[in-house]
Amino acid sequence: VIEIRGLHKAYGDLEVLKGVDLVAPRGHVVALIGSSGSGKSTLLRCANLLEDSQQGDIFFEGEPIRWRGEGHARYPADRAQVTRIRTNLSMVFQQFNLWSHMTILENVMEAPLHVLKRERAEVEKAAQAYLDKVGIGDKAGVWPAQLSGGQQQRAAIARALCMEPRALLFDEPTSALDPELEQEVIRVIKDLAAEGRTMIIVTHDMRLAADVADHVIFLHLGKIEEEGPPEAVFNNPQTERLRQFLSHTA
Ligand code: ATP
Ligand code: MG
Repeated sequence: VIEIRGLHKAYGDLEVLKGVDLVAPRGHVVALIGSSGSGKSTLLRCANLLEDSQQGDIFFEGEPIRWRGEGHARYPADRAQVTRIRTNLSMVFQQFNLWSHMTILENVMEAPLHVLKRERAEVEKAAQAYLDKVGIGDKAGVWPAQLSGGQQQRAAIARALCMEPRALLFDEPTSALDPELEQEVIRVIKDLAAEGRTMIIVTHDMRLAADVADHVIFLHLGKIEEEGPPEAVFNNPQTERLRQFLSHTA
């Protein structure tokens, strides 16, 4: 679904991504791990075209992003292409970012109604079904503030699903939550993985990465230091950096 080749990204003089490759084939789960500041969120945001980049190629379903200009002045050339890709790669953030003045159901319905311009009755039905799926169907009519953190994050996942995206991108979906609330979100993510959803998950939770990922990428200072299937990455790390990183997170 998504393919990134040789991506370079800098904020001013600060090089944050130094030639990174990431491939997320249909039905696969890719986990991105690495220490704070290694560039995980930046890579996810670049995949979703929320960030500009200076060099490298990004493909969505084999279709290359068209850029205008080059280097620091490079930006996506085609707004329609950006919109199409962004609506097909739904992002779930650490802070759930629900709209506080809308009910849970309205939150989930908002983008399909106003971005995709789908029909209200059909969207409402889908929204309710996704809320049921993540286990908070009975909370459709309440305000976000009335939900626990774990329920709010599940609402955010239902909102992402309601766009019927080709892939889901998660940036630390459980790290704002207490351990017991974390588990209810992890359960939902595991169900989505079992359904064969394409996902890229940035996480500090090595157990989650080991459980759901087909492929694990360890980023270090903007470069891929090591990658492979979870068994290899977690049980048989090849680099000293990864060994050190894993010993701190265990
Ligand atoms: P964490 O685990 O703490 O979330 P991360 O791996 O997600 O870390 P990024 O958020 O991608 O790291 O940040 C990578 C580097 O880019 C950091 O040095 C950060 O300070 C810098 N950075 C991120 N966003 C910006 C920005 N908008 N402007 C300038 N520098 C930024
Ligand atoms: Mg981050």
